[in-house]
Amino acid sequence: MKLDHIEHIGVAVSNLDEAIKFYEEKLGLKCYAIEEVPAQKVRTAFFKVGQTKIELLESTAEDGPIAKFIEKKGQGVQHVAFAVKGLADQLKAAEEDGVMLIDKAPRKGAEGLNIAFLHPKSTFGVLTELCEHPEQEGSCGCDCSCK
Ligand code: ZN
Repeated sequence: MKLDHIEHIGVAVSNLDEAIKFYEEKLGLKCYAIEEVPAQKVRTAFFKVGQTKIELLESTAEDGPIAKFIEKKGQGVQHVAFAVKGLADQLKAAEEDGVMLIDKAPRKGAEGLNIAFLHPKSTFGVLTELCEHPEQEGSCGCDCSCK
């Protein structure tokens, strides 16, 4: 596997508005996007620190993964996301390497990224996300010269 950099750190919070206020007023960061991802039953808020983002996650349903996480472990760091290139190929290689996957194929996450999760049982308890900017896929699907 080849990881480029930490794309973002996902933090589970029970109240997104309160958390945004803290990050803006006390930590001096600016929330640049709030997005709901219905498939994952979350509302997310994004902040940038250098090339790394902080993704705050609030559950929109009692049975959502973030609600379950907070119930079990309390608020806090929920996942770490690494930027990669060639996500589909890297997933395949990881699986062949014996890494347990949650997602065997990339799916769409917040910010239009292609994402996939590795199972925390394989990663010493850290839910690990791999993500890829769509324009970094093998080809971007348009007529430009990147192919
Ligand atoms: Zn994430």
